[in-house]
Amino acid sequence: MSFVIAIDGPAASGKGTLARRLAQHYGLPHLDTGLLYRATACALLDEGLPLDDVEAAVEAARGLSLTDFDETRLRGREMGEAASVVAAMPPVRAALIDMQQAFAARPEGAVLDGRDIGTVICPQARVKIFVTATPETRAQRRALELAARGEDVDYTAILDDVRKRDARDSERSAAPLKAAEDAALLDTSELDRDEAFAAALAITQARRD
Ligand code: C5P
Repeated sequence: MSFVIAIDGPAASGKGTLARRLAQHYGLPHLDTGLLYRATACALLDEGLPLDDVEAAVEAARGLSLTDFDETRLRGREMGEAASVVAAMPPVRAALIDMQQAFAARPEGAVLDGRDIGTVICPQARVKIFVTATPETRAQRRALELAARGEDVDYTAILDDVRKRDARDSERSAAPLKAAEDAALLDTSELDRDEAFAAALAITQARRD
């Protein structure tokens, strides 16, 4: 298998930043798979459809194109919540598998981040990292990120979101959030961005050869 780096972890663990930096470091394409679920939810909301309309969600998922995401809109707080609702539906997950596996099969390799990359999408990936941090640390980071985007920030509400999303993502029956048995665990609670990147790089180098 080509050089695939699979990064999983809960909301706001820092996995997206790590994935982007690793991709840049190795010159690999990067897919933030959370955007697929966010874009699916966004399509339903835009059409005024309920998030539990499975048929419409599957159709929206099948119609996604990796190139035309409005990331600013998709990365908002509301869309993260909505994404975790559609992501719990097995047919929606099934509709998104081929796209993700095709991305991972690029000859040069790829970096993918999400919740089930090491367990379901790329179980053969050479490098798997499961990124964690305490809910409080993650809520703090998310609050800073949202404030930088100009959104209103209520730390308590964000911590509540983080906990709710953890529960929904971990307790669902379809591809629940959990570390692959062969994943390296990286707890970033006590690390700044550069320290977390250095740790991820060390794990990757050790597993690459
Ligand atoms: O990573 P991000 O916060 O953008 O993901 C939004 C939601 O999409 C997650 O809370 C999760 O429910 C879902 N997701 C998923 N599987 C992935 C990526 C995201 O279920 N591989």
